[in-house]
Amino acid sequence: MMFGITGTPGTGKSSIANELISRGERVLHLSETTAPYVIEKDSSRDTMVIDEERWIDEFVPFDGVVEGHLAHLLPCDRIVVLRCRPDILVGRLRDRGYGEKKVKENALAEALDVILIETLESFSPEQVYELDTTDKIIRECTDQVERFFHGEIPPSSGCIDWSSYIGMIE
Ligand code: ADP
Ligand code: MN
Repeated sequence: MMFGITGTPGTGKSSIANELISRGERVLHLSETTAPYVIEKDSSRDTMVIDEERWIDEFVPFDGVVEGHLAHLLPCDRIVVLRCRPDILVGRLRDRGYGEKKVKENALAEALDVILIETLESFSPEQVYELDTTDKIIRECTDQVERFFHGEIPPSSGCIDWSSYIGMIE
């Protein structure tokens, strides 16, 4: 079985993945698989453009948890979409040294449910668990991720509405 963890940058994918590793789960950081697929560096957005289609085509299915903001493009059996309230996400991304433009771009994407919408384009709601990490510590988030992957808690998505934050992100 392949389980995915996706979400806007800063929502906690890598932190949860590292906690899963310390609990003995098999985890693949997808950022470690994209280097051969870089097409160009988009300096204006401070990000790498990757050939997503070729990366998807050549991806060898992984038995375990795949983690990264492109995880929902892979044929996972179940997928967790991590969420973080946009005003809090801004703080997490600034602390990480992201420039203001990149902070706002990601906060807006989070407020607009971009990753959730993309996820629901290729998964049925029964495969999806949306987890609000805003007021939870990493260990608690990881507990819920594990329980969903193990089928111990039911799927859930579409209950988060951060549209009121859209106007605050300029
Ligand atoms: P991602 O891999 O999704 O980009 P990270 O796991 O790297 O996110 O986390 C981004 C930043 O936010 C890190 O500084 C991390 O410590 C912090 N962070 C992640 N999850 C939480 C959380 N649940 N509560 C508080 N801070 C968090
Ligand atoms: Mn990460």
